[in-house]
Amino acid sequence: MAILPILCYPNPRLHKVAKPVAQVDERIQTLVKDMLETMYDAQGIGLAATQIDVHERVIVIDVSEKRNEPMALINPEILWASEGKQLGEEGCLSVPCIYDGVERSIAVKVKALDENGNSREIDAEGMLAICIQHEMDHLLGKVFVEYLSPLKRNRIKTKLVKAQKQALRA
Ligand code: ZN
Repeated sequence: MAILPILCYPNPRLHKVAKPVAQVDERIQTLVKDMLETMYDAQGIGLAATQIDVHERVIVIDVSEKRNEPMALINPEILWASEGKQLGEEGCLSVPCIYDGVERSIAVKVKALDENGNSREIDAEGMLAICIQHEMDHLLGKVFVEYLSPLKRNRIKTKLVKAQKQALRA
């Protein structure tokens, strides 16, 4: 297993659209394991392959309090999304130290393959529903700050570019 580097906004590679996984094989199982290890290490509740510069439709999630309910969603598809929306505060491992409100469907029904290639459907609500929608956006090359106003987004961009330059110098 390995902890992988996470791309930081505004890295243009975060905007690449991920391709479907053709076959859930050993390579994908290793990817899932590495992504989970990377997510736990960074204390995140979700991670999309896009964020570690792998552009295939794989996400991992664990929204449990004890951090012992890992979940892999391969080739996820939203079958249904509630019309009802909720505004929740979101953060992202690719946008460190920034939190802001995003409106998402309260509940979603998702179909995906697990790490063994078995198809399953998940009825998600609350935190899990938000997390799935957030991670699936990553697979489409979309980062949550794109829901914010251009003014806010530019402020975030400037702040992160500055922080990344400082980190390089340190
Ligand atoms: Zn994210």
